[in-house]
Amino acid sequence: MAISKILLYYKFTPIADPKAVMLWQRDLCEGLGLRGRILISEHGINGTVGGDIDACKKYLRKTKDYPGFHDMEFKWSEGGAEDFPKLSVKVRDEIVAFGVPGELKVDDQGVVGGGVHLKPEEVNELVEKHGDEVVFFDGRNAMEAEIGRFRDAVVPDVETTHDFIAEIESGKYDDLKDKPVVTYCTGGIRCEVLSSLMINRGFKEVYQIDGGIVRYGEKYGNKGLWEGSLYVFDKRMHMEFGEDYKRVGHCIHCGDPSNKFEHCVNEDTCRELVLMCPDCHGSVASRHCGREDCRQVAAELAAAEAR
Ligand SMILES: [Zn+2]
Ligand SMILES: [Zn+2]
Repeated sequence: MAISKILLYYKFTPIADPKAVMLWQRDLCEGLGLRGRILISEHGINGTVGGDIDACKKYLRKTKDYPGFHDMEFKWSEGGAEDFPKLSVKVRDEIVAFGVPGELKVDDQGVVGGGVHLKPEEVNELVEKHGDEVVFFDGRNAMEAEIGRFRDAVVPDVETTHDFIAEIESGKYDDLKDKPVVTYCTGGIRCEVLSSLMINRGFKEVYQIDGGIVRYGEKYGNKGLWEGSLYVFDKRMHMEFGEDYKRVGHCIHCGDPSNKFEHCVNEDTCRELVLMCPDCHGSVASRHCGREDCRQVAAELAAAEAR
């Protein structure tokens, strides 16, 4: 059987003609039978594609032919084309949607005016040096932090990346403006942008972690400053850096440990993903998000099932 893989990558680099790059990338992927999702803007590229391992290798090589992408890092992951419904290659105003396309500045070195990049060991050195002064600032959606986060991290109240601007302008975090702040996210891309937006708004000492939580976790497992599970955007929904991970998340119904987000049973009107333990998810009556109308729908479904 042929071996399949998934490639994850991003690069901030000026792209003079995003449309031309989009058409080239689409042709390239179609020709190689790859599926996935690629976003291109005048600031760079952000993609996840899967397929046959040889096709992935060819894709990587051809993509690096583009001058701005020659030193782009590709991360290999388990999976394949079947993990994606189709191939989607699009031009967008932003490759990460913060809602401020005009603010981000990019040159051939990457994002201009972003946070200082730290390797995983440099993160620990910073904390050893400054102790509790160092603040970890979660650059993900608040939901993702429910199952894992850096120790004592600040988790902003954001549902989507679009909410960050209002959040950091709200005044809630003004006491962090003179402290060392380490932004972090899954693979590092969101913090490339977020750290620059924070610096533009008066945060004086902002850092970001090279390769994000993924690289930090690969280096330190559960023995470092990361605690819990990592939310991931594929059907697994979560991953751990070894079995000895801290149980951070809890079932919304019974409070038992859980690291698995489940859909509310009231699918017609509710898109909510909530933490449920296998027992509570296993019973229709409790397979809801906690909202009153959803609880009622669950109760009705359970009654119908019992009939
Ligand atoms: Zn439960
Ligand atoms: Zn619901």
